[in-house]
Amino acid sequence: MQHSVSPVIAEEGAVVGCFLVRPPRKIEVPLEGACGYIMRLADENRVGFVDALKLELALGTPAAWEVFKSQLDAARPRLTRIARYCPQCLATRGYWLDAWEVPLADACTECGRWLVDTCGSCAGRVTWRRRSLLHCDCGISLLAAPSVDAPPSAIALSRKLVARAQGRDAPIFSLLDGLSLNQCLHLCQFLAAVAGRTAYRKLRSVSELEQLDWSWNVATLAAAVLEDWPNAFIQSLQAWNAHAPEVLRGSLIRVFGRAYYALHADFQGPEFEFMRVAFGSYVAQYWTGSIAKRNRAVLSELSESMAWVPVAVAARRLRLTAKQVRSMVNKGEIPSESRLSQKGRRFIVINSQYLRDNASRLRPGYTLQHASRVLSLPESRMRHLVPMLCPEVQSPVNGGTWAIPVAWVEKLKELAVAAPLLTGKPPFRLCMVQTALRTKLTKNAAAAEMLRGLVSGRGLRYWRTKGNSTVGKLCLAWEDVCTLERSAASAGPTAISLPNAARKFGVKDEVIYALVRLGLLRVDVDRGRQRPTQYTTDRWIDLFRAEYVLGRDLANHFGRSPRYMAAWLARNGVSAVAGPDAGGCRQLVYRRGAVAVALGDVFGPGCTSLDTRVEDAIGEGS
Ligand SMILES: [Zn+2]
Ligand SMILES: [Zn+2]
Repeated sequence: MQHSVSPVIAEEGAVVGCFLVRPPRKIEVPLEGACGYIMRLADENRVGFVDALKLELALGTPAAWEVFKSQLDAARPRLTRIARYCPQCLATRGYWLDAWEVPLADACTECGRWLVDTCGSCAGRVTWRRRSLLHCDCGISLLAAPSVDAPPSAIALSRKLVARAQGRDAPIFSLLDGLSLNQCLHLCQFLAAVAGRTAYRKLRSVSELEQLDWSWNVATLAAAVLEDWPNAFIQSLQAWNAHAPEVLRGSLIRVFGRAYYALHADFQGPEFEFMRVAFGSYVAQYWTGSIAKRNRAVLSELSESMAWVPVAVAARRLRLTAKQVRSMVNKGEIPSESRLSQKGRRFIVINSQYLRDNASRLRPGYTLQHASRVLSLPESRMRHLVPMLCPEVQSPVNGGTWAIPVAWVEKLKELAVAAPLLTGKPPFRLCMVQTALRTKLTKNAAAAEMLRGLVSGRGLRYWRTKGNSTVGKLCLAWEDVCTLERSAASAGPTAISLPNAARKFGVKDEVIYALVRLGLLRVDVDRGRQRPTQYTTDRWIDLFRAEYVLGRDLANHFGRSPRYMAAWLARNGVSAVAGPDAGGCRQLVYRRGAVAVALGDVFGPGCTSLDTRVEDAIGEGS
């Protein structure tokens, strides 16, 4: 007759009395759930769930604290609004199982049927606010609700999650070992989004999983992926990519959106490493789109653990261009395998371990870009300086792409690291190598001399500053830089471009090009440029002037018209080595010796130079 007596509650919310009936919580296996226990207590004493909870909290029972805590923190998230249950097991046991209160554990761990959370009659949601433990508020027994078998993977997931919630381990889904219940729930939400191809959104609270019609879906999908890890995950990613709208294709970020970021933000801990490894395997095996620069940092970390990497990743590891790697693959220098993409395109993957074992052999050298970066030297200057300093370099000029010998780059790297550290303020002015190259040593000869000085350690004083240990950031004594600049200005031939040479001669550009073509004016070729460029020097110009003379200059010299001069020379047996009729040069060019001989024949053997006496003689002789 205990049920006829009401508990002593003075006003709502204030607990002043005690239960009349207080059965103990069922602690046999399976354990009675905390919410279920409070509900049973409320039912037997004919009070509401909230009042029973308050009374129990006042008494300090562990079950009450569990319910209360679950509303406050995530230590053990529980679903506290909706009461999920297994009609069959509720009927046979007569109490609420702890397992039913664990989010996403949607299959009954005892009988393997899906849990239910709605009344079989009125279809209303069964909550802890109802009046009776075993009845819906509509009066129908909860035990009458229909229930069906769940798939084995969902039952296994339930068992694992319940075990995690109860602080036990279960020998299934070992990927979840070591994860907290909360982490397990977030992971399942993620996997379900990938497998279900729904936009991934981070779980804000586990209450999002409390309605079974939604959470069944998540549990089923996640369980299926976990059951066949990582194959099912990789297949899901493939399917996701295959169903992505055409406009998004080709970009990892656009195709996978938040799910892609989640791998490196929401799941960044080492306990989730297995997910990044699986994603990396997917990328290595099936991703055919480009890998954007901004993804590369992330992917290089991923690719460390990939067994097979695409050409782009291999190229980055070998510090080669993708083109170089592809050509080595074609020549059979790197063993590879071929994969078929979604669209049926064949692509190449390379074994990671092979790359690691053979990196030094396969890597013929640094690319210009990479060498510039590791040395902190401007690429535009390196283009000219490397061929001057390092004859073994393979550059685009002598066929192929840049391959700067590793040893050469390493030597420069080492010398920068080994440089004395600058401490305190030096008594003289300093200049960083980069700055010297940019502003002071604009001539390649001077810049090359500086780098030679650094390598030989002679004639240059240099230091490294704290935190900077690349060649470009070494500090040189300003005085030494000035010395280099001066010596470069005085010594060494200065390259004179052919248009500048034309201005020096006072002739049109095409005349100079004709002189070069006819082999009269010597040129050198600057191969450091993107296109080999011809240039001449003061020395070659002096040599030309010692050997040849322009008809125009002779005419000016003797105060005659060019036409008259040409006729006089022709009359005396001197033919032009270049001219409109000789090699298509617009200016007449004579061999100085031949002119002198002709003059000597006419004016006597002593006259071998075009001096003023001869000038007078020509004037008289004409
Ligand atoms: Zn059951
Ligand atoms: Zn009902």
